[in-house]
Formats: sequence, structure tokens, C-alpha cells
Amino acid sequence: MADKKNDSGSDSESTEEPVVGNLNKFAVVPPGHTGRPKKGHLIFDACFESGNLGRVDYITEFEYDLFIRPDTCNPRFRVWFNFTVENVKADQRVIFNIVNFSKTKSLYREGMSPMVKSSSRRKWMRITPKLVYYYRCPDHRKNYVMSFAFSFDRESDVYQFAYCYPYSYTRLQNYLDNLEKRNMDYFRRELLCLSVQQRRLDLITITNPENLNPNNTQKTVFVTARVHPGETPSSYVCQGMIDFLVSNHPIAKTLRDHLVFKVVPMLNPDGVYLGNYRCSLMGFDLNRHWLEPSPWAHPTLYATKNVLKIELDFYIDIHAHSTMMNGFMYGNIYEDMARFEKQMLFPKLLCSNAEDFSLPNTSFNRDAVKAGTGRRYGHSEINSSLAGSLQALVAP
Ligand SMILES: [Zn+2]
Repeated sequence: MADKKNDSGSDSESTEEPVVGNLNKFAVVPPGHTGRPKKGHLIFDACFESGNLGRVDYITEFEYDLFIRPDTCNPRFRVWFNFTVENVKADQRVIFNIVNFSKTKSLYREGMSPMVKSSSRRKWMRITPKLVYYYRCPDHRKNYVMSFAFSFDRESDVYQFAYCYPYSYTRLQNYLDNLEKRNMDYFRRELLCLSVQQRRLDLITITNPENLNPNNTQKTVFVTARVHPGETPSSYVCQGMIDFLVSNHPIAKTLRDHLVFKVVPMLNPDGVYLGNYRCSLMGFDLNRHWLEPSPWAHPTLYATKNVLKIELDFYIDIHAHSTMMNGFMYGNIYEDMARFEKQMLFPKLLCSNAEDFSLPNTSFNRDAVKAGTGRRYGHSEINSSLAGSLQALVAP
């Protein structure tokens, strides 16, 4: 969600007392209950990588109000959730109400539904859309609430629920470790810097090794992804692109022979690890700080910007959008007509080759509020012919 107006901030302020940390094996028992929780007293947990759930209120035996834990150091953003439930009874039926979203618009309104998996069913599934309701709720000062009904079937299972398919920092590290082990001469992984919490910012270079000599004249394509932690489809698209570029497909080989691909697959590793929706550890929306990143507050941007100071021909920043149904792009407005037309070519090609890509949803702007985004920086400060942000599908 890099660009749409009213889409980056909060549409409603929290009306509840502040929710700070993640729940840690928190048993929700009926009022008046003392002693150990009984079977069927649900135990909620979000103390794991990319986890997010701040509070649960018991409404009845069958209904619970759930509160998203706001982004670290930035209570305006409350969208991503990812938590587990255990200690269930067989055939126990519940309704979960997620009551403190910071946005009103959501694909939940258009039929999208949250994800679930369990110990015995390891594959993520969507909850049946007819059991999901997204509505303005008079009980929560007219906040938008997403309610869904769920029936637990196996007592011993742990169930996990998430806003969308998770894609964690560790998953990326495992993926890159496996690529490195293949010893491909056209794949190189470097450590660009460490994040505030000492996580890796990886830079991947994919090209025919002959293109790496200093006299190389081949053009460079730069791709960044996952500046916004809650936009997990961005990582699936980025991984799919890397998989293709390192493959034996004849087109991949031709691309490696004629271009240098530089990819930063996770610009905000701390935010992803912490289960934030939009911000870094310190509460910054990094996609508003490209113009003057600070080496201590925005180290991953600072390091990426230093790499971007080369002659680029193409820059794409991959995001995901929370209210649009397909893939599309945001681009820039250029005075130079030839440059503008050149920029139009890529979305046109995508549209004619990718079924889920929408040219009508693709748009170009130069709003002042977007001046600190990656794509705007790409077009104004460096010599790139095309700098855009690709908004991926919500489902990978
Ligand atoms: Zn975004």
C-alpha cells in the first residue's frame, strides 16, 4: 500500500486502552473462574516471529473480542494479525471479532477471508468466506470489525490464524541459504548492513559473471521488496521472480546474459520479525524516508540508497495493496514525453502477459506526500529510466 490516499494512515483512532505487547500463552477464562484453565478455555499466543495479537476479551463461551497489537512505536497502524489458539474442545464453535483495525477499507469487505492452519493440517487455508463478516459495529464506536466463525475439530491441535499468508524473516534467510548452497556462478549474496536489531539486509546479484567485470556495459535492474511488513505478497512475488531468474529457463539465461539484477528482498527485516503492519522497530514508515535516511534510525534504507547510486535503468519496489483485487503499478509523471512513454511500456507488457495484472488500475502521480517513497526517489535522484512500485495480489 504505497500510494493510495487515505490508505496509508489510520481511518479511526483506537477507542480502547492502549495494547502494547503480544499475548504470551494467555488463557481466556469465564468471569469468576479460578484455578487452572479447563479444556475449552482458549489459550491465545502471539509470542513468535511475525506474531501479532495484543489482547482478548471474553464475551461469552462462544464469542471473543480480539485486539491487534499496534506497530511498535506507532499506534496508528493496526492491521496485521497472526496468532495461535490451543486447549480447545472437539467440535467447539466460536466467533472471533477483530475489533480495532486502523483502516476501514479492506479486502475483507470484498470477500477476502483470513487464513488458518493447524498442527494436523499444515497447509494454510482460507476460512470459508460465508463465515466471515466485515461490518461497522455499534458496540465498538462504529469501528469496522471483522468477525468469523470457526469450529475446532481436534482437541490436541494448535490452530494458527493470520491476516494473510505469513512470510517471515527466517523463511527468507532459509530460502537464501539454500540458494547459496547451490553454488551458482551467476548468483551472489552480500550483507549490505545490519538492521537496528542486528538482522541481515541482504543484497542479491543475479547475472552472467562476465557482466561483473568493471568494464561491464550491461544495464542494471534494481528490485526492492517488503518495506511494509504486513504486505507479505510482496515477498512471494519477489521470491517467485528470483526463482525464475536463477532457473534454467532459456529466457532467464538470456536475461542473465544481458542484464544485471540487483535485489533487496526485505527492506524492513525488523518490522517483519516483530509482526508490524507498516513500520520499522522505531515506528517509521520507511517508505517515507528515502530522501534523507539516517544511518542509525533507517540503516537499511541508508545502505540500500548507497547501492542505488549507480546508473540504473529500471527500478521496481514491490508492495501489496489492501483494497485492490489485482496486480497493478504506480508510476511517476515525467515532463519528458519519451521517458513517460518508456515507463508505460512495462505495465503494458505485464498486462498483455499476466492475467492478474490490471492496466486500468495502474496510475501515475507526483503528489508531494509521496516524495519519500522508493519509486519517487528512484525517478528523481538517480538516473533510472523507469522507477515504479508494483502492487502485488493479496494472495500469492
Ligand atoms: Zn506498501
